[in-house]
Amino acid sequence: MIPGARLVLLGRQGAGKGTQCTRLSLHYVVPHISTGDMLRAAVREGTEFGRKAKEYMDAGELLPDDVIIGVVEERLEHEDTKNRGFILDGFPRTVTQAEALARITEPRGIDLAVNLDVPTEVVLGRLAARRVCVGCGANYSTAAPPEVDWTCDVCGSDVVQREDDTEAAIRRRLDLYEEQTAPLITWYAARDELVEVDGTGTTDEVTDRLIRAVDAAREHRRSS
Ligand code: ADP
Ligand code: ZN
Repeated sequence: MIPGARLVLLGRQGAGKGTQCTRLSLHYVVPHISTGDMLRAAVREGTEFGRKAKEYMDAGELLPDDVIIGVVEERLEHEDTKNRGFILDGFPRTVTQAEALARITEPRGIDLAVNLDVPTEVVLGRLAARRVCVGCGANYSTAAPPEVDWTCDVCGSDVVQREDDTEAAIRRRLDLYEEQTAPLITWYAARDELVEVDGTGTTDEVTDRLIRAVDAAREHRRSS
């Protein structure tokens, strides 16, 4: 039987975290927890919280740490994460968030943080081509559109360009990534919880690489 997993996925915008997390969540049978998807759902619902979040998101800015930590802490209290684990996508994004996650997940902590590495030149092209389903968050691109007329293959909703995929917001998010999120790679490496995976190549190749890297790192951990 395939064991569960407690994973954090790190990587630049456009590295393919969303797509790969969906696949890993099917493979390890654990929920895929994407803070971006949760925030976009709040925006669609039009809650007061959603309205506030949208201002940050459209500008490409990060929500305040205490706010997003509260959202994730609440989510990780749900039963579905208790048995087999979780895959976190888009959280943590700052060292403060990583410290909070370590506290929230005590005493077990996480298995691994995986850095899905794709160079900036490559993600810029992918982000310009990226399209997303407004209903379920499934990812598409101009090179790989849905089968029928920009309606989602999974749920039938409209597939559009994300409002925060403007050139200015993309540039801002990538700057913030280098400034605030890249230091997490060092932070997790120092805790001996990091694996690096090359995120270039086809979607299937990357999924295979990810599963092999996660299984190998956990095996190594068990036997040491
Ligand atoms: P991307 O990886 O392209 O930035 P996401 O879907 O992960 O997209 O996130 C979209 C937006 O949601 C971010 O630009 C930010 O405003 C907000 N957000 C998501 N996760 C976090 C987080 N961990 N901390 C602060 N803000 C966040
Ligand atoms: Zn959909």
